[in-house]
Amino acid sequence: MELPVFSPSSTQTFSFCPRKWALEKQGWKSRYIHYPELCAWLGSAVSASLEVWNVSKQLGLQPDVDVCVDSGVRSIHEAFDQAMTQGRRITDEAFYAGLFEKVRTAVALYTKHDPLAAYDVVAVEQTLPDSGKARPDVVVRDAQGLMVVDYKVKVNLAAQWMEKELSKYEQYHNMLHYCWKVGTTRYAIVLIVLGPKQTVKFQPYSVSSEYGPIWLGDAQHAWAHMGAHMAIGIDTFTAHELAGLAGNIKHLDEYGQCGFYKACVEYGLNEALMGVDYVRTKKEVIGA
Ligand code: SF4
Repeated sequence: MELPVFSPSSTQTFSFCPRKWALEKQGWKSRYIHYPELCAWLGSAVSASLEVWNVSKQLGLQPDVDVCVDSGVRSIHEAFDQAMTQGRRITDEAFYAGLFEKVRTAVALYTKHDPLAAYDVVAVEQTLPDSGKARPDVVVRDAQGLMVVDYKVKVNLAAQWMEKELSKYEQYHNMLHYCWKVGTTRYAIVLIVLGPKQTVKFQPYSVSSEYGPIWLGDAQHAWAHMGAHMAIGIDTFTAHELAGLAGNIKHLDEYGQCGFYKACVEYGLNEALMGVDYVRTKKEVIGA
């Protein structure tokens, strides 16, 4: 039987905590939209803007920066509208209001220095086949072959932390997943930093020949478990069944306390109590 393949973000969540993955699959979200999620909106908006930029280049057209920015602004409005429809609330209105200008700044910075200017654009935001809907920002080509590129945005990153930030993407799961499906060992991160000093950093990497096969084994191991959970209907898992999943006992991710800390630790996965701090965005209901 063919093994299932899950998206890079879903696999990352499952690897961090199967219970968090299950809660997200059931549509649970924090009622409150905090700084990290707003930063994610900004990252998506910049990617949407640069999608227009790269498609124009691919078609041999002169990209229009304002049209690119409009696409990013639309992406933020869509995220906002969806969040409001779901009954969610933004906790930092001032930061939210500043996102639009940040998109403009990021796009202006990137397009002024376009680090991919010397490459041919091969694919832009294209969903890769049989990949769990994996969708790299852009695939480019030069004389050495194909390279997968993803954009990242940091609102603030002091120069002394640049190296540490870029080291996060060494043998980074999402990029290895893309490379595996694209059939290349080359990938790059374009890091757009908005402050305190504005900069665009292009950082190439290559998939380690030693680690690549181990990574694939690890990923397939996770996918087999995820597939087994899906087969028994994780969307309708009861609180008792959710509790039976192997939770991450540290409850800490790269931003600090896991967003489901209250759900697990304070509310014991009791759906009625969770309603105070969380919304459920899917129709299925957790059984008794
Ligand atoms: S609080 Fe802990 S157990 Fe619950 S979803 Fe987050 S990491 Fe997993």
